[in-house]
Amino acid sequence: MLPRRHHELPPTAGLPLRFADLRPDAATLADDIARQLGTPPLQLECSGTASLLVTLTALRELQPRRRRVVVPAYTCPLVAIAVQQAGLELQLCDLRAGHYDMDPAALRAACDERTLAIIPTHLAGRVADVDDALAVANNVGAYVIEDAAQALGARRDGSSVGLAGDVGFFSMAAGKGLSIYEGGLLLARDPELRERLARTSARIVPRSFGWEAKRSIQLLGYAALYQPRGLRLAYGNPLRHALRRGDPVAAVGDDFPLTIPLHRVGHWRQAVGAHAASRLPAFLDRLSAQAQQHLPRLRRIEGITVLDDPIGAHGTWPFLLLLLPDQARRDAALAQLWQAGLGVSRLFIHALPDYAYLADVVPAQDVPNARDFAARSFSIGNSPWMTDVDIESICGVLEAVLR
Ligand SMILES: *Cc1c(COP(=O)(O)O)cnc(C)c1O
Repeated sequence: MLPRRHHELPPTAGLPLRFADLRPDAATLADDIARQLGTPPLQLECSGTASLLVTLTALRELQPRRRRVVVPAYTCPLVAIAVQQAGLELQLCDLRAGHYDMDPAALRAACDERTLAIIPTHLAGRVADVDDALAVANNVGAYVIEDAAQALGARRDGSSVGLAGDVGFFSMAAGKGLSIYEGGLLLARDPELRERLARTSARIVPRSFGWEAKRSIQLLGYAALYQPRGLRLAYGNPLRHALRRGDPVAAVGDDFPLTIPLHRVGHWRQAVGAHAASRLPAFLDRLSAQAQQHLPRLRRIEGITVLDDPIGAHGTWPFLLLLLPDQARRDAALAQLWQAGLGVSRLFIHALPDYAYLADVVPAQDVPNARDFAARSFSIGNSPWMTDVDIESICGVLEAVLR
């Protein structure tokens, strides 16, 4: 039995805000992050999804005859919603067996002269195989958009993710590392494409006092509650309520609205993000060290796979993503751990074709590896509040389930 707790660990490690972060100041967020990452200038948008929507809109104008966007069949439902809102066609690509990357053969089968873009995805902070997507894209004349929503700070061969493809984007949503409650950063290597993305954004993204007021209040709530006591209220209680109702999609927040808001990000939220960003490199280093400490312990448990980066890549560690041998044992582990306040959760509940509410957005398709990944995977939050006792509790349950 696990101890009852008065606090709750988050499922992903967000950078906690401090009171002093809330002071108004210069809106240097995008410039500060670009300097930290060593990238060309970054373009600020109101969410990761909005960044993708701006990108798809711009690319569609460059290649009006190409309508298909190829995405991994196991990814954030918001990606599918953005493709639909851009007036484009979603084309799913199954995963490699037991891996987050798209399957190379399936990717080649999914792409042709109708393909506008391919979206390799740095899931869970792990660095994806962008080179394979680039090889296929070069062959058919498509663009590559790196979905780095979960991987701000991840590097490959010394440079930031998002720079190998034509465009990359990061998310600053609540819980995804650095957060201004909702925000996104767009990255493009080529100055001409960068200029075009800026023009598209200026054209289609309006100012909205209402949205900015709402996000500002949400950011204040996030700043106040993103700590173990507040998380019990803001995260743990709604989670347990949704699970009691038998609604895992709501429990992990996979139930997104089918329309993506587009609006400018105000100066105050940018200033808050800029203050917090000064602590981001040290925070990411700390999470990485903590993950490297826990990985060997978890890997000693026979039957567990912890997903890791390819050689030469250094991802970020907002949480650990793991696979168990089958769904029955994954579910048995979660029956004990999901509601225990230890930050154990699931990433996305389903492969994209299996969300009932996305029936009009996602084509029906057989994607066995993505379904298998959804059925066997779970996550362990790697927040700074997680202790050795917490990880031992989790390992104890996993050992019992796998015995
Ligand atoms: C969160 C997420 C997005 C969308 O980012 P938002 O900032 O929440 O709009 C896109 N792709 C992946 C893989 C994500 O996890």
